[in-house]
Amino acid sequence: MKIELANPDITNKEIQAVVDVMKSGWLSIGPKIEEFEQKFKDYLGVRNAIGVNSGTSGLHCLVKSMDIKSGDEVITTPFSFVASTNCFMFEGAVPVYVDIDPKTFNINIDAIEDKITEKTKAILPVDVFGQPQDMKRIKKIADKYNLKVIEDSCEALGAEYDGIKAGTVCDGAVFAFYPNKQITTGEGGMIVTDNDEIADLCRSYRSQGRAITGFWLHHERMGYNYRLNELNAAIGSVQMDRLDSILIQRDKVAKMYNEKLSEIEEVITPYIDPNVTKMSWFVYVIQIEKGLNRNDIMKYLKENGVACRPYFTPIHIQPYMKEKFGFEGEDFPVTFDIGNRSIALPFYNKLTEEEIDYVVGILKKAISSEK
Ligand SMILES: *Cc1c(COP(=O)(O)O)cnc(C)c1O
Repeated sequence: MKIELANPDITNKEIQAVVDVMKSGWLSIGPKIEEFEQKFKDYLGVRNAIGVNSGTSGLHCLVKSMDIKSGDEVITTPFSFVASTNCFMFEGAVPVYVDIDPKTFNINIDAIEDKITEKTKAILPVDVFGQPQDMKRIKKIADKYNLKVIEDSCEALGAEYDGIKAGTVCDGAVFAFYPNKQITTGEGGMIVTDNDEIADLCRSYRSQGRAITGFWLHHERMGYNYRLNELNAAIGSVQMDRLDSILIQRDKVAKMYNEKLSEIEEVITPYIDPNVTKMSWFVYVIQIEKGLNRNDIMKYLKENGVACRPYFTPIHIQPYMKEKFGFEGEDFPVTFDIGNRSIALPFYNKLTEEEIDYVVGILKKAISSEK
């Protein structure tokens, strides 16, 4: 058997939607992006949704629109995909990392306040692996010090903490649609915000700094081409209609894994905070017990057709970050430890019970050969 790490769930509806756009001849800035944005507004109950060509460009637009610039500090987590830090480093702002909660892997909220200085401009939490967090508490800390909050919800579309949807309690949030995410557009992202001023700036930055209502060749500021084209937006619009059923399928797959992995003592399955009222499974990441050799286990899995990946290799130990800031792994010991023991297993909507049994069987053999 050969099992991929991720697989997008594309139906004939998405294919037909793309064909329709091609036949319409209207390939950019047309009705499909508006339709996709409207579905986001309705789903999350937010005032503004702005489609962009990646999650990273969405985060960058928010950073620009909040005037985060050279010398500013942004408090964030090192246990994430690099984009959540790169988005403000593009502007010369500096990451101030807070270590993570050892159970949820999200930023340790208790430790945020200690890291605030006069240079702090924003807090940027990440909803890691689709697990939402107590954004009300983070927003309260931010308000006390007059800081902005950018929520990187790229992995958490549809997730809810205490009944509150990820991406809705902050100054701006971003969702992403790379093919391994819950819904995909091929490449793409969506900025959401209730702040109209931030929204207008994001719309301007995504389209070469144009004024929202101005002429095509009038540029109010230096902007980018971060637009989402109509083909991608059309895929996203269909995927949005299917979101609820996709999340239910992913939840089923995760629960199957939880149950079948419970028999392997050396494996720790994902912990979900009891305040999470809805989990939006992005990836399925296990921890292996201390002392086992993760690389050997991963090698065995791969040799037997089971794709896997060390999710995440922490940002602070990426070569370019070590070089720039001189970080050591142990600077953020929880992140470093979790990063060294995690393995993302194959995870997608249509993973069958048979395939899960195969993955679990191979993992069991890999671990017993380690002892
Ligand atoms: C996917 C993702 C992004 C955005 O990635 P793109 O490839 O630019 O769409 C940002 N942050 C996190 C945590 C992500 O997982």
